[in-house]
Amino acid sequence: MSQHLASKLPHVGTTIFAVMSRLANEVGAINLGQGFPDFPIDPELADRVHAAMRAGHNQYAPMPGLPALLQALADKVERLYQVKYDPATEITVTAGGTQAIFTAIAAVVHAGDEVIIVDPAYDCYAPAVQLFGGVPVHVRLAGDMRFDAEAVRKAITPRTRLLVINTPHNPAGTILREADMLAIADLVEGTDILLLSDEVYEHIVFDGEPHASAMRYEALRSRAFVVFSFGKVFHATGWKMGYVLAPEALMAEFRKVHQFNVFSVNTPMQHALAGYLKDPAHYETVSPMYQAKRDRFQAGLARTRFRPIACEGSYFQVADYGAIRNVPDREFCEWLAREHGVAAIPLSPFYQDPPEGQRLVRFCFAKEDATLDAAIERLCAI
Ligand code: GLN
Repeated sequence: MSQHLASKLPHVGTTIFAVMSRLANEVGAINLGQGFPDFPIDPELADRVHAAMRAGHNQYAPMPGLPALLQALADKVERLYQVKYDPATEITVTAGGTQAIFTAIAAVVHAGDEVIIVDPAYDCYAPAVQLFGGVPVHVRLAGDMRFDAEAVRKAITPRTRLLVINTPHNPAGTILREADMLAIADLVEGTDILLLSDEVYEHIVFDGEPHASAMRYEALRSRAFVVFSFGKVFHATGWKMGYVLAPEALMAEFRKVHQFNVFSVNTPMQHALAGYLKDPAHYETVSPMYQAKRDRFQAGLARTRFRPIACEGSYFQVADYGAIRNVPDREFCEWLAREHGVAAIPLSPFYQDPPEGQRLVRFCFAKEDATLDAAIERLCAI
């Protein structure tokens, strides 16, 4: 090349999920790193996709999504959160949660706009902001991985365009509660700050806690893109299917970008999901199923030298390894995979500025019980 190529993301490498899955495959480690289930989808869902394909639903879906699926989603959120979204103008089906997040950021962040991101934060937020000329402003969760409204308040300036929140939280596994949502409503009141609420683990919330969706609070709902994922709920992360809800004016801007980004999303899957969602048991059974796995994994960890932190939702368990080795988390994860055959995810990649001396890793427990038990045996040997 005669010309120097100036990277738009000079500090970004390959995601930690891809790096750790590659290492797990290379060394034959049990992969509790990248978050994905190792068990199958419901055969009924597979049958529905197959039937849709056989019935000839194989061409482009309408740009915002299949009307039957948009209606099923409107019905679902009304049932769960007592809010009405217009399926024609306020819901869009996306190619996964990440695309919804990227597109929402693309649609509203102008050059120089500040976007508040709460670390540890899922890794796709900041790069999207930077690509569109925005400035990520990083604040932190409190030490116990809980939302710190005061930290966010201090970060707000007249240039703040967007606040990104996430509940249940990836990677921390903590949840936002009503008090947090009211504090956030208080923070944004009287400002033009928009909200991006990443709620892809909506159906993985434990111990009877309600999911504190931004949709439940009018002060938040009226300024929010709320993002969801079918992959997380129905054990189909490889489908890359999600959806986003927002008030009409926000959604109009979202769709302007969406139509040139992906245009529309897999037609047979949308037919399948539209039918499958009619039975609430298909999503209401997910939290108890994962709660049993969390409990099993935590009981196992209690026999190791790892110290788990509270896991209130998501399928991730964060644990402190400080009693085992006093080394940085990436080095620890590499050693854990190579020497002990278990892949985990270090927490430092989720920070702009990782806390000095923090010794935390994230395990994914969306696995068959036999996989979890085998991993625990290996962790017990350390
Ligand atoms: N959401 C998954 C996780 O947190 C990873 C998805 C991905 O690899 N991009 O592990």
